[in-house]
Amino acid sequence: MDFKAKVIHHGAVNGVTGSCHQLVINATTSVLIDCGLFQGAEVSGKSASTGLAIDFDVSHITALIVTHCHIDHVGRIPYLLAAGFTGPIFCTEATASLLPLVIEDALKVGVTRDKGLIAACLKLLKQQNKPIPYKQWFDLPVNASANLNIKPQTSDSNRSVDFQQAKAKFQPAGHILGSAYVEIDLVLPQNIILEKPLDTPLVKGLSNLSDKKPDKPLTNKHRVVFSGDLGAPYAPLLPAPKSPYRADTLIIESTYGDKNHQSRKLRRQNLQRVIERAVADNGVVLIPAFSIGRTQELLYELEQIIYQQHKTQHKSQQKMASQSSGKHLKNSLGADKSVWQTIEVIVDSPMAANFTEQYKKFKGLWDAEAKQKVSKGRHPLNFSQLYTIGDHKQHLSVMKALAKRNKPAIVIAASGMCAGGRMMNYLKQFIGDKTTDILFVGYQAQGTPGRDIQQFANKFNGYVELDDKRYDINAAVHTLSGYSAHADQAGLVNFVKRMHHKPSHIKIVHGDEEAKQVLQSCYQTILPDAFIEIAE
Ligand SMILES: [Zn+2]
Ligand SMILES: [Zn+2]
Repeated sequence: MDFKAKVIHHGAVNGVTGSCHQLVINATTSVLIDCGLFQGAEVSGKSASTGLAIDFDVSHITALIVTHCHIDHVGRIPYLLAAGFTGPIFCTEATASLLPLVIEDALKVGVTRDKGLIAACLKLLKQQNKPIPYKQWFDLPVNASANLNIKPQTSDSNRSVDFQQAKAKFQPAGHILGSAYVEIDLVLPQNIILEKPLDTPLVKGLSNLSDKKPDKPLTNKHRVVFSGDLGAPYAPLLPAPKSPYRADTLIIESTYGDKNHQSRKLRRQNLQRVIERAVADNGVVLIPAFSIGRTQELLYELEQIIYQQHKTQHKSQQKMASQSSGKHLKNSLGADKSVWQTIEVIVDSPMAANFTEQYKKFKGLWDAEAKQKVSKGRHPLNFSQLYTIGDHKQHLSVMKALAKRNKPAIVIAASGMCAGGRMMNYLKQFIGDKTTDILFVGYQAQGTPGRDIQQFANKFNGYVELDDKRYDINAAVHTLSGYSAHADQAGLVNFVKRMHHKPSHIKIVHGDEEAKQVLQSCYQTILPDAFIEIAE
């Protein structure tokens, strides 16, 4: 068996949150990959302090590499800084742009309202943050090894190796704006050979979507790939991730290791159909959505539907005018398509609005379809019926206005699992109303109000508790699959299958027990000689 890189996990091993992995480079150097918060049910069982704490020695941590700025990957950064970490924080340029917004929000919501403390933390973050473009190698700081005499032998997989150099590269992961998987090359002095160069792929004849530029043989190098969170194909806005050319050790997420997504290609039609039916009674449609990623995907989809309907309507009006008929166009189900010309889409989240601006700023990272729309003069994240709500006063007046009037509207607000945020106020106000429709487009974790609403919506006397008060669910509740921001089982398997040089060692993280086990056996089937383990 080949040499195995040493990776210690400080999170995302008993669930999907708290991602924080320590790659040991030599006796005096380690780098961290992500430093995320534990969330939801995964916090329970940990005391508040251990859930947040940096309970490991940071004195040998020379750098932090951030894969993307979801809170479960970056939320413990303030605690890392407080623990005395002074090294560089590497991330992509888009992530660097989003990161201060995410950290500021996390501090305000979970830690402190003290402006001085927040400013001090953001200042450190800015000083230490090093944005790096995708696909560009950068050096990682490596302390001189304390133990230069160790000469690794390929036969002994358990001894530690003192690497002298390390470099890293970000590749697009297609999960949220700025997201990346990271390739890290660990390099030994020239005279030490770690393993024989691999010159033929382990599995032949598989289609390969990765860039096939041949690397130099890695005679004294070991390439470790951290997947971060991988996106799924057919996602709106961002291109799907391509497999790396090579990995010797792979640390991979497994959120959907045991599931394949359904109906991704039909999801836009499904979204349109549900909304058309929902607004027929002039009620509000509530869509709980996370402010980063999901909100922008929804705006992108709604813009497309409105654009398409506008075109169709325009054509049919011309036709009707020539036949002197003035009736609204209805589809075979009787849904009134003209609603798309007037319906208001309300994004009630200042954070989401900030993130949408960042998505617009980094148009260069969008996929081909989105770029084509821009080149035709369209604004895929904006349309005339879109309203963004700012401060709390505005939020309250919109709620009041919506309650009084008899006109449909779509409201997108956080949190995505109804566990806080302005969505809670909308639910309290509208969940008891029969004309309301609640539309779930994302995963609802166990123990969240979102999951309870899904579960009890169609039950007799179904209710949900919001802030310790009981609310009857009279609203119609819908769940749309197809919008997940994570690769499914096929995506995770293809990520490995399409590598030119496949890993001899895979560690599975970031998933529920069942998902990890199923994925482990998938990998073992395609790589029978590799060491596939579930990280502990
Ligand atoms: Zn994520
Ligand atoms: Zn994650």
